Amino acid sequence: MNTLNEKIVLITGASSGIGAATAKKFAAAGAKVGIAARRTDRLEALKLEIEQAGGQALSLQMDVTDKVSVEASVNALLDTWGRLDIVFNNAGVMPMSGIDEFKTDEWENMVDVNIKGVLNVTAAVLPSMIKQHSGHIVNTSSVAGRRLFGQGFAVYSATKYAVSAFTEGLRMEISKAHNIRVTSIQPGATESELLNSTTSEGYKEMTTTFSGQMTLLAASDIADAVVFATSAPEHVNVAELYVLPTSQF
Ligand code: NDP
Repeated sequence: MNTLNEKIVLITGASSGIGAATAKKFAAAGAKVGIAARRTDRLEALKLEIEQAGGQALSLQMDVTDKVSVEASVNALLDTWGRLDIVFNNAGVMPMSGIDEFKTDEWENMVDVNIKGVLNVTAAVLPSMIKQHSGHIVNTSSVAGRRLFGQGFAVYSATKYAVSAFTEGLRMEISKAHNIRVTSIQPGATESELLNSTTSEGYKEMTTTFSGQMTLLAASDIADAVVFATSAPEHVNVAELYVLPTSQF
């Protein structure tokens, strides 16, 4: 295995759910973790928790839809720690609704955060990884980026299919050429704050019913999978991680 000790990590969407759980796992493994999101109060609380457990964290206010904000955060991390080894592109939103509700602002936000956010962060981190001829980028797709679920998921699924396609294309272009590993993680239903962004009354109820039908993954289960992929030996690229609750179809 490849030790994570002293590795420099950037995690987007670290203020809750999967991102926060992964930050804690990396920090516990000895990595220095840049924790990025918009809610700085949550980041400061997480930073304190990590530090109290003996780890190191840097809180970075970042809106992944804003290139300037992304570049400023990445530069702040590079100025502080000098390099960047692992990036977990995890920030995402899933406001569910029917197409015939025409919640076009929510569609647009999903495209901006889930797709453009991944592109913005990738563009900001790649130059330093190419220069150091090493690195690992983990992008968050979803079970909804592998198959369709029907009602309410159309735009979200479209964004996650895009992440899956981009991630495999990215791997093909940069892994061999620049010695940078690329992983697509496709989680199934995981306990987090993801459902909170749904404003459609019908879908709020539907998601609660759906979640009640199975034992959800804990955010820390996905964190374990990310740690597994990133701690594989240098010559091993875990290109895809498809992690589902046992009871999810
Ligand atoms: P959470 O809602 O708990 O976390 C989402 C994170 O994304 C938050 O930290 C939020 O931080 C951040 N975020 C949202 N918008 C932005 C933005 N514009 N700029 C920066 N950060 C942003 O959900 P999860 O932990 O579940 O989600 C993590 C990822 O996992 C997402 O990509 C999601 O699509 C994916 N996923 C989740 C599944 C699940 O069942 N939970 C299943 C499959 C995939 P803040 O609001 O502070 O900016």
